[in-house]
Amino acid sequence: MGILIRLKDLRDEDMILEGELTPEELEMPHDDECVDMKENLHYYLTINRQGDDILVRGTLRTALDCVCVRCLKAFKMPLNIRFDDLLALEGEDKVEVKDDCIDLTYRVREDTLLAYPQHPLCEKGCDRLPNDPSHRVDYQKLGSDAEMRESSSAWNELDKLKLE
Ligand SMILES: [Zn+2]
Repeated sequence: MGILIRLKDLRDEDMILEGELTPEELEMPHDDECVDMKENLHYYLTINRQGDDILVRGTLRTALDCVCVRCLKAFKMPLNIRFDDLLALEGEDKVEVKDDCIDLTYRVREDTLLAYPQHPLCEKGCDRLPNDPSHRVDYQKLGSDAEMRESSSAWNELDKLKLE
């Protein structure tokens, strides 16, 4: 279904759009070993029309299922994202209007993905080792993936340096 702004519902006063989207509705990826979104995303958005522009402001909230890249402990990371977008109805950058509606789903998806942590840590500066007995995680399985991520991102950084 997604998040739709129906243009004919937009009057002078602010319009509130509030609800939840499942990860399936948002088509969130599930290919990251360390960050996954399994819970619904709650959105609360204020829509305000100013001439040919539509101002969308609000918050997106969910909790991510993360695995700490250091100690490999599984943990929940709350996400609280400020959403701020200006949609133009006219001009070169105008948004697509379909059946008198603007679909915000893709924009919300993109902002949520941008808020994903690159290297999730269970707590700031975590330096525990995966074999800490207080963590009951299948780290043998997760460990190689986490190490691969670490080294592949290091190589990416090197590639970037070479290009510059
Ligand atoms: Zn940790």
